[in-house]
Amino acid sequence: MDKARLRQKYLEERNKRLRPDGNDQYLRVAGRLAHYLDDPYTPVTAREPETDHVTVAFIGGGFAGLVTAARLSEVGVKDVRVIEKGGDFGGTWYWNRYPGAQCDTASMVYMPLLEETGHMPSEKYAHAPEILAHCQRIGKQYGLYDNALFHTEVVSLDWDEAASRWRIRTSRGDDFTTQFVGMGTGPLHVPKLPGISGIESFKGHSFHTSRWDYGYTGGDPSGALMEKLADKRVGIIGTGATSVQCVPHLARACKELYVFQRTPSSVDVRANAPIDPKWFSGIATPGWQQRWLENFTANQAGGSAEEDLVQDGWTDLSRRIRARIMDLPREQRTPPNMLAAFEDSDFEKMEEIRARVDSIVQDRETAAKLEAWYRQLCKRPCFHDSYLQAFNTPRTRLVDTDGKGVERITENSVVVAGTEYQLDCIIYASGFEVGTEYKRRAGFDLTGRGGVKLSDYWASGMRTKHGIHVHGFPNAFFVQPTQGANLISNVPHNLSEAAKTIALMVRHAQANGFREIEVTKEAEDRWVELLLTGAGRMIGSPDCTPGYYNNEGREPGPAANLNVGHPAGPMAYFKYIDAWRNAGQFEGLEFR
Ligand code: NDP
Repeated sequence: MDKARLRQKYLEERNKRLRPDGNDQYLRVAGRLAHYLDDPYTPVTAREPETDHVTVAFIGGGFAGLVTAARLSEVGVKDVRVIEKGGDFGGTWYWNRYPGAQCDTASMVYMPLLEETGHMPSEKYAHAPEILAHCQRIGKQYGLYDNALFHTEVVSLDWDEAASRWRIRTSRGDDFTTQFVGMGTGPLHVPKLPGISGIESFKGHSFHTSRWDYGYTGGDPSGALMEKLADKRVGIIGTGATSVQCVPHLARACKELYVFQRTPSSVDVRANAPIDPKWFSGIATPGWQQRWLENFTANQAGGSAEEDLVQDGWTDLSRRIRARIMDLPREQRTPPNMLAAFEDSDFEKMEEIRARVDSIVQDRETAAKLEAWYRQLCKRPCFHDSYLQAFNTPRTRLVDTDGKGVERITENSVVVAGTEYQLDCIIYASGFEVGTEYKRRAGFDLTGRGGVKLSDYWASGMRTKHGIHVHGFPNAFFVQPTQGANLISNVPHNLSEAAKTIALMVRHAQANGFREIEVTKEAEDRWVELLLTGAGRMIGSPDCTPGYYNNEGREPGPAANLNVGHPAGPMAYFKYIDAWRNAGQFEGLEFR
C-alpha cells in the first residue's frame, strides 16, 4: 500500500466535489414539487378531528414510536396515541418500498422486539416488506392501532403551564392535550431533490425512491419483475445506499437503464442467507435479543467482546483495528498509534472493496469509475452482491459525472458533460434532508415553559440530558441516538434503550402522583460538559468527500460539536443508562 498516494488521491477526489452551496444545492420538496411527497401506498381517509386528552402522545410511528409505546404498555401505560404522517406504522419502512429495499444491519439486532413478538426473521438481512409487516405486528400486539392518527402531521406543540400538559395541533384539525409527549421523527424522512437546472421542465414520468410508483413500473416491493419498464428508458440519479439496492432490479426490467453517478458508494460483500429455524430455536433462549444487541455493539463500537455473533461488514473494520492494536506491545498503544491502526485498517479495507469492483465489473472503464476513493466511514458503507454485477448487463450503463453531478435536465433528457440521454422516466435516489433545521424537517417547533421555542433554546446546538430531556420542556422526551449512545450502525438499539428509560420514568411519575418530569438546568449542563470531554464526532470529518455525513463538506459551525454521544462510547452509555434508570432515583430530574 502506498499510503501517501492514497491520501493524495482521497484529497483530490474530495476537493473535486466540494461546492460552495453545500446543503443549498438541494431542492426543498414543496410548492410545485410537493406532489413528490404524495403517498402512493395508502389512500387518505376522512375522519373527525380529535379534541380529547391522552396520557402519552408520540410523534412518529416508526421504530422509535413503536418501541416506546410497547415499553410503556409493558409497564401498564396503555393510553398512548401515535401520530404519523404515513398511512400506517413503519416510518422509514412505510415509505421506502423501492424494489430490493433491505436492512443493511443484521435483522437479529436491527428488528426490535423480536423476542417479545416471537418473530423469527427470515433472513440475516431482512427485506423491507418483512420489516414493514413486523412494524404492523408490533402495532397490533400492543394495541396501538385504535388510538393512532395516520396521515397526520403535527403543526404545533405548546406547553400549557397551568394544566401541566402539552397541547397538540395537527394538519387534520386535531386539537388535543397530552400529559407526556415523545418525539421519534427520525433523521431521514423528508425527501430531497437535486437542484439540477431544468428539473421542472421534464415532461416524462418521475418520482423519488421513497414514493415508488409501482403503478408506472409494475412489479411490487417483494422484487417481482417491473414488467411495465420493458419498453422504457429509465435514468436513476444518485448512487447511495438506496440506489445500490434498487439498481439490480431496474437493470433486469428496463429497456435501457442509465445510472447517473456523482460519487460511487463503497460496496462490500452482502452474504445474505436465510435463517434456519432449527438454529434459531437453539439460540432463542430468554434474553437472546438483548445479548445479541450488546454483542454487536461491543464488537463494533469499542467494546471487547470475545465472540462476534453477527459477523458482518459493520464489525469487520473494528475487528481489524482491534487486531492491529493488540499486535502492538502494551506501551505502544498510544493515541497516535491507535489512529494509525485505524487508518491502516481503513486503507486495507477500501483496497479490498476497490479490488472487488475490478473482479466483478467486466468493462475496465466502468469498473474504474465505480471505485470509491475515500475512507469507509466517509459515506454510508453499502453491502450488496448484485449491484456491481448489474453493470455487466448490456442494457445498463453507468454515466459517471466525475464528481460534478448531472449538468441539466430537459423536457425529455438528462444531460451530462454535454451529452443528452433521452429518457421516459427519471427516478430520484437523491436522499433525504439531513443538514436542514430540525423545525423545518419536523414541521413544528416546541413551545416550552415561558413561551421559549426549542429552536431558540438549541440555537447554539442541542442541549439535553441523555439525548432525551431538555430543560424548560417538561414531560417531553426525544427518542433518538445523539447525546446518548450515538450508535450509528444499529439505530434501533439506541431507541429501545431510550424507550425502556421513558417507560420507567412515566411509571414512576404515575405511581407517585407527579404531573411533571423535568431535567434541571444543572443536570443538563453537566451532561453536556461530559459529552464535550469526548473525542468529538466519529463521522462527519471535513476531510471526507462531501455528503450528508459531513454537512456536504462545509464547516458545520460550533453547534455540531454537540452532535456526539457518551465520551466512553455506546457500550459504556448503555451500561450507564441501565444502572441510572434501575436505581429508581432518576438523578438530575425533578418530579413535581
Ligand atoms: P444518499 O443521500 O445517501 O444518496 C443520494 C445520492 O444522490 C448520492 O449518490 C448523491 O451523490 C446523489 N446526488 C445528489 N445530487 C446529485 C446530482 N446533482 N447529480 C447526481 N447525483 C446526485 O441517499 P440514499 O437514499 O441512498 O440513502 C440515504 C440514507 O438512508 C443512507 O445513507 C442510509 O443511512 C439509509 N439507507 C439505509 C438502507 C439500509 O439500511 N438498508 C438502505 C437505503 C438507505 P453524492 O454522493 O456525490 O452526494
